[in-house]
Amino acid sequence: MGSITLKKVTKSFGDVNVIKPIDLEIKDGEFIVFVGPSGCGKSTLLRMIAGLEDTTSGNIEIDGNDATATPPAKRGLAMVFQSYALYPHMSVRNNIAFPLKRAKVSPEVIEEKIANAAKILNLNDYLDRKPGQLSGGQRQRVAIGRAIVRQPSAFLFDEPLSNLDASLRVNMRLEISELHKSLATTMIYVTHDQVEAMTMADRIAVFNAGIIEQVGTPLELYNNPVNRFVAGFIGSPK
Ligand code: ADP
Ligand code: MG
Repeated sequence: MGSITLKKVTKSFGDVNVIKPIDLEIKDGEFIVFVGPSGCGKSTLLRMIAGLEDTTSGNIEIDGNDATATPPAKRGLAMVFQSYALYPHMSVRNNIAFPLKRAKVSPEVIEEKIANAAKILNLNDYLDRKPGQLSGGQRQRVAIGRAIVRQPSAFLFDEPLSNLDASLRVNMRLEISELHKSLATTMIYVTHDQVEAMTMADRIAVFNAGIIEQVGTPLELYNNPVNRFVAGFIGSPK
């Protein structure tokens, strides 16, 4: 489970139309990257998929069901932000457990899930620390851990690595790709970083001012960009 279909989805803020009608089919298990310059509507579309923002028109289907009336917590999706959004006063363990406690999951199951996430993300030595005692990369792992324990049908990442320094970014990129391989869960990954897009994506959707210019595999976009904008963004010689 984890297919997401956008049907003529639009978004306006007041008179300003920031998402033009967008149609897109995201397959179950796919790693799709949304790339495009700042302000082109990537985060807005991701937030609409998450249910954090209403659509102005059009439909979003999750696993074939219209999600319009489904609140964020019931969509089965987990969002990971650039800002981590961790609770500073809580230990790593409690940050990860928070969504589970709220969902009234039993303490034994919570312990099991924390242990599993800590193992996957190499957080075993940090479970009793507070976020302030962690590096940026470790904090981002905690944020991902908090998403993993919910076993979402899709992960939504909004520029998760843009606060990290360059070498850490490379490591975390690999870790997220590994995570995708091992979980085989749908991931939508927003970035303005062309290298991230080219190295991580099964398919890339290139955004420009509220539309998707082209969707395809990194190789397809590189070899056959539909226009100069896509070529420029992907770094294709055409
Ligand atoms: P991106 O993530 O690609 O940088 P965004 O989705 O954040 O772009 O923003 C797309 C456009 O929508 C921008 O012009 C931004 O200013 C505008 N926008 C985003 N959120 C709001 C809001 N809550 N109210 C008004 N305008 C917004
Ligand atoms: Mg954004």
